Amino acid sequence: MSDYPYADRFAIHRSLPEEGASRDDILSMLDTMSHVEDAAWESGQCSGTMYCGDHDHYDFLNEAFSKFSYVNSLQRDLCPSSTKFEAEIIAMTLDLLGASNLRDTTPVGLVTSGGSGSIAHAMLAYRESKNSAVQRPNVIKPETAHPAFAKACHLFGIELHVAPIDPVSTQVDVGWVEEHIDENTIAIIGSACNYGYGTVDPIEELGRIALRRGVGLHVDGCLGGFILPFGRELGYDIEAFDFSVPGVTSISADTHKYGYALKGTSVLCFADKGLRNSQYFYQPDWSGGKYCSPGMDGSRSAGLLAATWAAMVQLGRSGYRRYAEQIFATSRKMQDAVHTHASLRILGSPSFLFSFTSDDFDVYHVNDFLRTKGWRLNGQQYPNALHMAVTRPQTQLGTVEKWRVDLSDAVDYALAHRDEAPKSGAIYGGVAGGPNDEADAFIKMFMAMMMDQQSSIPA
Ligand SMILES: *Cc1c(COP(=O)(O)O)cnc(C)c1O
Repeated sequence: MSDYPYADRFAIHRSLPEEGASRDDILSMLDTMSHVEDAAWESGQCSGTMYCGDHDHYDFLNEAFSKFSYVNSLQRDLCPSSTKFEAEIIAMTLDLLGASNLRDTTPVGLVTSGGSGSIAHAMLAYRESKNSAVQRPNVIKPETAHPAFAKACHLFGIELHVAPIDPVSTQVDVGWVEEHIDENTIAIIGSACNYGYGTVDPIEELGRIALRRGVGLHVDGCLGGFILPFGRELGYDIEAFDFSVPGVTSISADTHKYGYALKGTSVLCFADKGLRNSQYFYQPDWSGGKYCSPGMDGSRSAGLLAATWAAMVQLGRSGYRRYAEQIFATSRKMQDAVHTHASLRILGSPSFLFSFTSDDFDVYHVNDFLRTKGWRLNGQQYPNALHMAVTRPQTQLGTVEKWRVDLSDAVDYALAHRDEAPKSGAIYGGVAGGPNDEADAFIKMFMAMMMDQQSSIPA
């Protein structure tokens, strides 16, 4: 049987059907597929990705989205509401991220299509606002900072310098960062928190370095931007990472992660308007009319702005705080379960997201077993580790207990199989001796599986 998705159930389309199908039939197919797929995370065993996991909330967002889904937010004369939604999304995010501390600059923002979009626009802004003496601009990112920085550098012709991290704290080596700033450095980067380990880089120290050396400091709060401020309010030990820290010039925060909005939005905050405006695009002389756009996208759905705004206004600070409280508490309990196993070791001092490895066996054995119990953790490499980004689905009753039991059994399994090669390690784990051609070929095959299925559609 073909592994083409749903080949056994639904008609396959290789060309537009001459006569369209009925709306009812189509909606029923979509319903089937979404129910099958939702079941994979609804039990609370899937790391990250479903941040709210609450169908009532999603229904509410979908209703908000539906009222403007077909509107192009670029045509503001037709949708002044988009100006309101966007302005308020940005203002609320700036306020959450401490922009009231900025006295000498004009804090502003940009709503983008996601974390990668926010990071790309930030890197573009640093490049466009650079001193004209800078010939070959570079930025310095911690090894743990998201690949979106490497992608942005690749797209915009910026050199990327990768700073090592401390293997115990998993925080960036700030001494290395300072030593490697040169006359072409346009910005340095810190994460709050990083995707791999859930740890926060020493942003205050990076801020001091940025000010001393006259470079920008981008804080990647894509993951943490909408939850860490509430973790701090709740008394968790999280270092300041926002605009209250002198030297921070931009922060990315994803509304489509812990902002609990629909997929497709993120906010990029700038300490100063000049930096943001440097990357605006204008073409006043085109025969098709005068053109300008605030970022890389052209047409954008006003529905996403409406839904993001709706999520923020509906939840309010108390809603975000309540969810953060549940998530942090659940993460603590799940981490405590990891701590009970002498053979497992949590990396650094994480927050709501934690990552663990083992010095006694390949931790992918633990993953092999957990997969059979329905868990979906994220695999890491160098060193092999597994991470769990705790989201709202894990806060439901029974999930922590299931984690305790399954993790214990998984450790027993790992100890019993330590001399074999773990199954999932070959896919997600690091290759002994460092990256090689095989890992390269693997990742290309993975992309082809995702993108080129039309050539394998069963006849
Ligand atoms: C998810 C994430 C990104 C990238 O965001 P996308 O929305 O997937 O483009 C960047 N940084 C961190 C820390 C993230 O967790």
